[in-house]
Amino acid sequence: MTALPSLFISHGSPMTALQPGLTGERLSELARVLPRPKAIVIATAHWLTRQPQVGAAPTPETIHDFHGFPAPLYQIRYPAPGAPELAARVQQRLDAAGLASSIDARHGLDHGAWVPLHLLYPQADIPVIPLSIQPERDPAHHLAVGQALASLREEGVLVIGSGSITHNLYDLRGGYSETREAPYVRPFIGWVEQKLAAGDIEALLDYRRQAPFAERAHPTDEHFLPLFVALGAGGISASAQRIDAGIDQGFMAMDIYRFAPQAA
Ligand code: ZN
Repeated sequence: MTALPSLFISHGSPMTALQPGLTGERLSELARVLPRPKAIVIATAHWLTRQPQVGAAPTPETIHDFHGFPAPLYQIRYPAPGAPELAARVQQRLDAAGLASSIDARHGLDHGAWVPLHLLYPQADIPVIPLSIQPERDPAHHLAVGQALASLREEGVLVIGSGSITHNLYDLRGGYSETREAPYVRPFIGWVEQKLAAGDIEALLDYRRQAPFAERAHPTDEHFLPLFVALGAGGISASAQRIDAGIDQGFMAMDIYRFAPQAA
């Protein structure tokens, strides 16, 4: 079978679930063109741990890990099954790659996982394994996590990194809007696109020093690190296709990336 690509998805605000906009359109298109996955492993910026944790709940609960949003958002459930056996293999692969990790038999799906999955596969009938991000570790660590999972793509497993290509919540009060964009957003996302297109992994790993406005785009980088999981899972020589999904509220860019092996 054709190996699946890996994906990086900017999940945006939890409101994306109720107002999917361009992100919803882009994710529906992707679901239409991709081979149907047998299972999904999703590394989410809203599950932060010191070492990689692999969720192995047989029926992961939907976690509404946000406050002050409209009531209908709290009623959404994403009842996809888990995949405990595959989770165990994911954990073994991480360990075999020298990445000490553990199983969490109870962890459910936070909004970094269920918001994009709800838009990609609304039937919630594909088993999902959540994977944590390590905010104390660097991009190279997350690239290695992704690389350890790359061969799962050949088994029909879709590996997703869920974060945000820009994520500075201080700018919620910055007075930005669809018509008044934060000045750092386009230079930052343009730099990322250019480096990914050039396959310049070294520069990307050093993005905090090299990318324009890196600290403004990511005061903390837990929402950027899932990009490296997706990049690693796609294979180091993968081609990166940027899918533009707009800029939410003028500061939160919603870029999606699809990493696929280069055509032979
Ligand atoms: Zn988030």
